[in-house]
Order: sequence, then C-alpha cells, then structure tokens
Amino acid sequence: MNAGQPPGRTLRQLAGIPVTVLRGVAAKKAAALAELGIETVFDLLTTYPYRYIDRSRRVDLAALDVGDQAVVLATVIETRARRTRQGRSLVELVVDDGTARMKVAFFNQPWRAHQLVAGSEALFFGKLDDYRGRRQMANPVVDVVVDARAGDATAATPSDRRRRTMRIVPVYPASAKVGLSSWEIGTWVEEAVQRAGVLADPVPEEWRQRLDLCDRTRAMHDIHLPETLGERDPARRRLAFDELFRLQLALVLGRRALEADARAIRHRVSPLDVTSKAPGATESSLVQRFLRNLPFELTGAQRRALAAIFAELAGPLPMHRLLQGDVGSGKTVVAVAAILAAVQGGHQGALMAPTEVLAEQHHAAVRALAEGLTVPDPARLGGERPIEVALLTNRTTAAARALVHRDLDAGAVDVVVGTHALLTDAVRFRSLGVAVIDEQHRFGVEQRAALRDKGRTSAVAGNAGDRAGADPDLLVMTATPIPRTAAMVLFGDLDMVVLDELPPGRLPVTTVWARAPDEVAAAWQRVRDEVAAGRRAYVVCPLVEGSDRVQAKAVTIEHERLSAGVLSGLRLGLLHGQMPSAAKEQVMTEFRRGEVEVLVATTVIEVGVDVPQATVMVVEDAERFGIAQLHQLRGRVGRSSRQSWCYLLGSGATPDAAARLEAMVRTSDGFELAEVDLELRGEGTILGARQKGRSDLKLASLRRDADLLAAARQVAEAVSEDDPLLSAHPGLQDEVRLFLAPEEEAFLFKS
Ligand code: ADP
Ligand code: MG
Repeated sequence: MNAGQPPGRTLRQLAGIPVTVLRGVAAKKAAALAELGIETVFDLLTTYPYRYIDRSRRVDLAALDVGDQAVVLATVIETRARRTRQGRSLVELVVDDGTARMKVAFFNQPWRAHQLVAGSEALFFGKLDDYRGRRQMANPVVDVVVDARAGDATAATPSDRRRRTMRIVPVYPASAKVGLSSWEIGTWVEEAVQRAGVLADPVPEEWRQRLDLCDRTRAMHDIHLPETLGERDPARRRLAFDELFRLQLALVLGRRALEADARAIRHRVSPLDVTSKAPGATESSLVQRFLRNLPFELTGAQRRALAAIFAELAGPLPMHRLLQGDVGSGKTVVAVAAILAAVQGGHQGALMAPTEVLAEQHHAAVRALAEGLTVPDPARLGGERPIEVALLTNRTTAAARALVHRDLDAGAVDVVVGTHALLTDAVRFRSLGVAVIDEQHRFGVEQRAALRDKGRTSAVAGNAGDRAGADPDLLVMTATPIPRTAAMVLFGDLDMVVLDELPPGRLPVTTVWARAPDEVAAAWQRVRDEVAAGRRAYVVCPLVEGSDRVQAKAVTIEHERLSAGVLSGLRLGLLHGQMPSAAKEQVMTEFRRGEVEVLVATTVIEVGVDVPQATVMVVEDAERFGIAQLHQLRGRVGRSSRQSWCYLLGSGATPDAAARLEAMVRTSDGFELAEVDLELRGEGTILGARQKGRSDLKLASLRRDADLLAAARQVAEAVSEDDPLLSAHPGLQDEVRLFLAPEEEAFLFKS
C-alpha cells in the first residue's frame, strides 16, 4: 500500500477479491453473478438496491387493521396441513401474540407445517386480510424466533441467518434468467459489507465536512443495510458524490495533463480587437478588418465570447474551449474570427464539420466572410494576397485533394474547411494555429485529439517560428445547447463560453403541432402563401428504417407525391445524403437563389444550413425525431427579421413523443429544451458517448444531483491544483486510476 494512504480497505483491494470468497458463492453462483457483471467484492458492493421494503414496523395484533402491512411477533397455537380443492398444499396456523389472534395461511409451502409447530414463536410480516370474516395473513414473510422443535432459538439454517423481518430489506436487481434472487444477492452483499470492514476514505476530511458527506464506511453500510429509511439518503448522497468526484477528477486531471504537456502559439490578437473598430485607422489587423466588414453588429454575447477567446489565444496555454449557443446565435462568425486570429500571425485555421452539406456551406460562408481580406504574400516582399480558403471532403476529387494537400503543407492555404477528410494522414499543415470543430456531438474525443495532433506535426518554421512544438488552439461548438450538467460530464475537460443572446430582431418561430386534417391543410397552405410572397420552405421527410438508400428512395417518392399533390405548381427541389455532392451543391444554390422554392429533404438539412429567406418548415412524422433534432431543424427558419412558421405533423404516438412535440410548441429556447430532453431521454443516452473505462455512474443522476456534480467539480479542481498527479493524495490517485481505461491512465499519469 502506498505511504500516505488513509487507513482501511481501498476500492482497488476490494476489486481484487473474487466473490467466491463469500460463503455460498460456489462456481455455479459465481458464474451467474459474472453474467450480471459481478466478479469481485467491489462489484458486489457497488450493486446497489433499487428499492427497499420496510419490514421494520412491529405492532400488536390487536392494533393491526385489515389492509395494514406490518410485522407481528406471535406464538403458534395450532398447525394444520391439508390440500385445497384444486390440490394445492395449504398450511394453516393460528397464532396469538397476547393481544389478539389471527390465522396464517401458507400456500404451496408444505414444509411450513414442520417448521412452525405449535409452541414456536416467529415474526410474521405481511398484510392483514379479512378472509370470510376472519383475520388472516396469507404467505407472510417469516423469521422463527423460538423453534419449538429444537427447543432453542437458532431457527435458521447456517447458510442463511439473515433476518427477513424487523428490518428494511434492500431489493437488488435480481435476475431469474441467470437464476439469482434478490435475497441471495442481499445475503452476499451483507457478508461482503461485514467482511470489508473499515473502508479507506480518500476524500479529504475537510471537504467531507464542508459538503456534509458521511464517511464511506458508514455510507456503504447504510445503503445496503439501512436501519431506517431515512439513512438511505445521506448514504446515497455520499456514494453518488464519489462517482461524480472520480469522473470530475479524471476530467480535470486530463485537462491539467494537456496543459502540462503543451505550449501554445501566442497569437497576436487582443480582446480589445473586438471593440476597437478603429475607424479610419490605416493599419488594422486582419481580425479588425474582418469584424469591421461584417454587415451587422456583433451581439453582446458574441463580443464577450470573442474577448474571452482572444485573451486565451494570446496566452501561453492552448485553448480548449466549448462554445455553446442556441441555433442561430451566430457561432460561425465567432469561429471564423478565432481562425483569422491565427491566420494574421501567419498560421492556418481548420474548421471541421460533421457532414458534407455543412462543410460545403461553411466553406461558402467563410469564403464570403473573408471576401476582400488579404494576408502578406511571402512570394512578394511587402505584397499581399487574398486569403485562401480550401474545401476538403471525401467527395473532393483526387486531383483537387492533392492540390489542397500540397498547399496546406506549403502554407498557401490559410483556412481549410472539411469533414473527417481533414484527419487523414495525407493532410499536413504548415502551421495549424486554430482548429474549430462544429457540431461536436457528432465527433468523438478521439477526433478532437487527432485534429490537435495535426498541429503538433505541422511542418513549422519560416515566419511561423513562434510555434516550435506548440499545440493548436481548439474551439469546439455544439449544434444545440446541452444541459449544463451533461456538459460538465461530456466536456468537463473544456472551458465553456455561452452565446446566450440571439441577433436582434429575430422573431420567435411560430410552432404548430398539426394533427387534425384541417391543421395539416393549413400548413400546406402556409407553404403556398409564403412561396407566393417570395419566401422559401423546407419539407423534412419522415425517417424510414433501413439503409441510406432506402431513406433516399422514400424522400424521392415523397418529393414526387408532393409535386403532384398538395404542392403542385411550386418549384420543388430534392436533397438527400445519397446524392452526388455536385447535385447537392446545385440544389442548395438553386434554393438560395429562389429557383427552387420548396426543398424536400432528409435531415441532411438539420445542421447549420443557412438560407435566411426560408420562412416555413413542415416536418412530416415529427414524432419520430428527438427534441435536439427538431430544434435544430426548426433553426433553419426564423433566420431573418420575418415571421416564420414550423409545422410539426404527426399524431404523437407515444406519451414521450407527445411530450417532445408539446415542448417544441411551448418554447424555442434551446437551453430549456435541452433540459426537457435530458428529462425525457434519461441520461444514459447522453452519457453513452463517454463510457470508456469502467462505467461508474450507478447512483448519481445528472438531473437530481446537479449540485453534487458542481461540488465534485469544485473539489476536483481544488485538490489537483498545483498537484496534477495527485501525489499528495495517493488514495485518490489510486482510486481515479482504477476507473480509467488503460490509455486514459497512461495519458493522465504518464505510466
Ligand atoms: P449558429 O449559431 O446556429 O451556427 P450561424 O452562425 O449560422 O448560427 O448564424 C445564423 C445567422 O445569423 C447567419 O445568417 C449569420 O450571418 C447571422 N448572424 C450572426 N451574427 C449576427 C449578428 N450579430 N447580427 C445579425 N445577424 C447575425
Ligand atoms: Mg452553426
């Protein structure tokens, strides 16, 4: 054991003890437990009850009313065994506790006749019924207190001394499939709790007191063996804290490991660049020129976000930041400004998007935004050349791709926009300065790291001599907001900045859940009216089961059906993921220009598509979409100062679907919808993205334990400050490592 470990057994030690050390866990039971994922004493102890049955109340029989459940301590007066008319075994007792009598009936438990002979005394837990005018308990739970057969008080068999009554009985996730009962598991857990004894508590005492957390030994005992139901809550709170704390420690340490390892380019940019418009100034930076050229004023939120980002870009540590903002809050401008901060120092920027449509659109947007901007041209002393923005996706032709590769390597491309294609080995930068990942939820943490490595392996040198081994700065953007608690778990290694303001003059989209035929008809009429007024519309087609090709076919058929039906006479375009990119680009261009008036599409339009003239969206079979997806889809309209409409077609087949559609109608606030989504979907789906090492969130809930999570974060920051390897807290270090996947452990602790 490490010096400095707190006394007691560590989780690692418990994780090293196989369940077979417990009485009654032989090979067969051990195999059954293994099927439930329980192999060690640690696994068993962290298999928590999912509910409790309170059998702790004992009352006098005379005081027990019909319909009440309680424990009665009574003596057997008479025992009779017989068969019912259906041939079932029935054992009937008369018992008396000195205040009153009742009957006890056991069905299909013939052995009760031998166990509970007259003169025996036992605790009976059950519900008092009225059976043909007589007070009776049927099939109660029994603990024999005095066994009249043996003449002593040891009634239970040696392998099962656990009391069934006069206690709170924990109920475990038993499984009939593998042949394990909750009772068996409980028996082993109880033994494990007893044999584990005192548990080491790695959470510093000071913090335990400040957060009012009970010690771990107490918590582990009380969660499994509470004497009162009131004891469960502090126990659960403590153990849930531990789960969240380990997770936050891993994230915070990951962050510190990155920092310890990294040097950043000190980009030549200042927070002041956001405000100083420097009118009339002859020499202003690229970033300033960019901001000045925008056709609109930045929102306050954009200004604040950019000031924070610029300060970090100028600093000595690489940025690892999450930019959260609602749909339409203007994240793209912020991203481009950050990229230009790198470009103005002679470095390059990369913007990675999850889909081709989005990458292509970003490419067009960045080009438009960078229009007229120039950078120094190394080929001509004192000369300038236009900013070069390239596109790289899997559909880029081999010849074009080779050119982009060459120009990135040579530094002739300043900004590259692309999909996963950016991550291939052939992509080498001369000096990647700022990397932006849009719609991060579509990308994994690995892709984030891969993009960062593109910076590390930059060709370097030249006028970019300030980089030598530096990491690029990284900005991650989410498509729609995610709940604060989920962000702390999924992106806990990133700093966060929020765009909590929409550009001025945006009218909330009027959202209608159209169920009745006349409501649906009104939706299609709205499409016609808006198109007649020179605006554009989207129709999003139902998701269909099956391959992308099946999906493509379904949307093609729908396109034809609408053309010939409710939308006849309008110019309809078709967009789906299976189309060649030239065709996609073509239809998007036509839609932007108005040559196509109604775009019939799959969810490929979900992310980021930006056509401000679009004012109506009809989502068919809306109940099949999740909240985040619907919100993102709806974000395609309402992108100008005109009133927009979103019609959700669908019956709301399930209560959850109805709740989603109702939420969409009720609010257009993405942060609020994110919370509703978490509520409805549960956290499994959200956290699923993170499970790498041992899955450790068994008790903690992102919804219920938001403050515990914040506290865990705070303690994690505090204990690892100035001690990124947790050398001063060997117990904690050991525990965090226990829950990490090997590659994470190697990264955090360089082991
Ligand atoms: P999102 O945050 O959803 O990615 P975008 O970056 O696509 O949003 O911006 C949505 C639209 O708002 C774009 O048309 C963009 O040009 C515009 N926009 C961005 N910032 C502002 C602003 N400060 N004022 C007015 N319009 C803006
Ligand atoms: Mg966007």
